[in-house]
This record gives sequence, C-alpha cells and structure tokens, in this order.
Amino acid sequence: MKIEDRLLTPGVSHGRSGRSMVPKGVVVHYVANPGSSALANRNYFENGSGGAGVSAHYIIGLNGEILRCVPDTERAVHAGKSYGLAWNEMAKTNNSRLIGIECCHPAIDGKFNSHTIDSLVELAADLCKRYKLDPLKDVYRHYDVCGKMCPLYYVNHASDWNVMKNKIKAMYDRIMIST
Ligand SMILES: [Zn+2]
Repeated sequence: MKIEDRLLTPGVSHGRSGRSMVPKGVVVHYVANPGSSALANRNYFENGSGGAGVSAHYIIGLNGEILRCVPDTERAVHAGKSYGLAWNEMAKTNNSRLIGIECCHPAIDGKFNSHTIDSLVELAADLCKRYKLDPLKDVYRHYDVCGKMCPLYYVNHASDWNVMKNKIKAMYDRIMIST
C-alpha cells in the first residue's frame, strides 16, 4: 500500500488545529463531488473551504491513490456536526477520537469504484492493526456517528456496506497472520 504525504498546512483554517488524538475508530466518507480527484479534494481542504476548516486524515482517489492530509494522531474536522437528535452527544467527541477517510466516486449515487474500494479495504485494515481496532465494530459510516447521509451509496445500500466491512475484516485477518 502506497500512501502519499500531502499534509495540509497547520492551522485551524486548514482543518489542522494541531490538537492530539488517540484513534479509537475509523469513519468512511464520500466526497459528494462526482468525478473529482483526491488531489482536488485535498486542495479544497487546503484552500477552498472558505476558512470553514474542514479536513480528513486521508483521501482515496478514483485510481486508488491514497493521500495523507492530517497525521493519524492529530485531530481532523470531519464528523463533529450532528444531523439528528440521536447523534448530538456522540458528535461532540467524534473528531477527538476518529480517523476520517474521504473516498472519491465517479457518479452522483456515490458508489465507490473497485480501485477506491481496494485501497479503502487495505487502509482501513492497516489502521485497525496499527491502533488495535476491531474491523467489524470500529469502522463506521459517517452516517453511523452523526446521521449525515454519507457515504451516500452505503447509507442507501446497507448490505453493500456490510460487504465492505467483511472485506476489511478479511484483509485484517490476512495481515495479522502474515506479520
Ligand atoms: Zn461524510
């Protein structure tokens, strides 16, 4: 797995407050901008968010490329807003404990292509290994932790999300045996 470092400039306006974090889980997002590249989304975090200061730790592109934007042990800004009463309390702590992965997608339905899925499975499994997380319990959709319709396709197709989680678990089991 190749991860390219494209760290955002430190500073709150770039979604990098510099506050430290101990990873307790992984949150999967979709970029909601069909056909856009990982680098374009990274540059939006860097420049284009109008000072809103949103970010994610990783972005996975349509060719499976993985860009690292924020170090794992530093807080990013990706899941702190609640989209329903049920998530109000959880949303307050999400960004202080969860690693965010944004995924690019070809079309408006938000379905990831096979290159993006392969890299997501590998990255999520590796993060579970690194931080002693359970691939079946500690990998979430953005929807699960604050009610947002994200990643859209996998909120609308829960069975496909289960397939994804099982792929992550299978990859995790493989890398735990081989190392
Ligand atoms: Zn999201």
